Amino acid sequence: MECRSGTRLLFSLMETDETLPLSYLSQYGYCPRRAGLLMLDRAWAESADTMMGAAEHERVHTQRKERRGNLIQFYEFPVFSVELGLSGFCDCVEATASGNGAKLPEISGKWALYPVEYKHGVMRTEREYELQLCGQAMCLEEKYKVEILEGSLFYIDSHRRQPVALDTKLREETRYTARMLAEMMQSGKVPDPTLSARCKKCSLKEICHPEWSRSAADYCKNLRKQLLEEETLCEN
Ligand code: SF4
Repeated sequence: MECRSGTRLLFSLMETDETLPLSYLSQYGYCPRRAGLLMLDRAWAESADTMMGAAEHERVHTQRKERRGNLIQFYEFPVFSVELGLSGFCDCVEATASGNGAKLPEISGKWALYPVEYKHGVMRTEREYELQLCGQAMCLEEKYKVEILEGSLFYIDSHRRQPVALDTKLREETRYTARMLAEMMQSGKVPDPTLSARCKKCSLKEICHPEWSRSAADYCKNLRKQLLEEETLCEN
């Protein structure tokens, strides 16, 4: 999940550029209400997970360029997309020389681009991380007029990379999620809570009160049942 300082930085981008924070693709993918609470109510609560994630991301979140042979790694690389209406940063963009690649500022030649998003914890599959990575790749494609077919999620604890194919389905989901974020921002309405297994690990559960959704739903169900029973009694 996004660290507090990252959130603040991206909000300032949002306010000046009228784009939404790219990292909220991941928040929306995790839970639309979570994205709404962060984006509209500017809620934040630390959990062991968010603190660990922020600490682990600290090294990555220093803007710099590192060269290793034919590979150049750009850390904390700023990106935006007019099509998606999003802006933010790629944790790392790897560039390798390629005849039909992108021209990059301050370095000569043409370069194939490969985004890498760092995530706290051990290797696992989380669709919301793939949405965020795909959003980053689409931003790079729009700006540098290149095609990016793959990126990677790097899991810090297991020190392993998981390649992600940036296929049509993932791109459509990314566009859809960006649209949902924009609509939510325009409406100013935070979605209602939906109690799910994800709530257990969500740092906002104390603010969100997802259990209320269950009790409200139960209340309506009981009320409906009661009314039906009364109607049946009257008819008899
Ligand atoms: S507690 Fe559950 S419903 Fe509430 S924001 Fe978190 S994941 Fe979403």
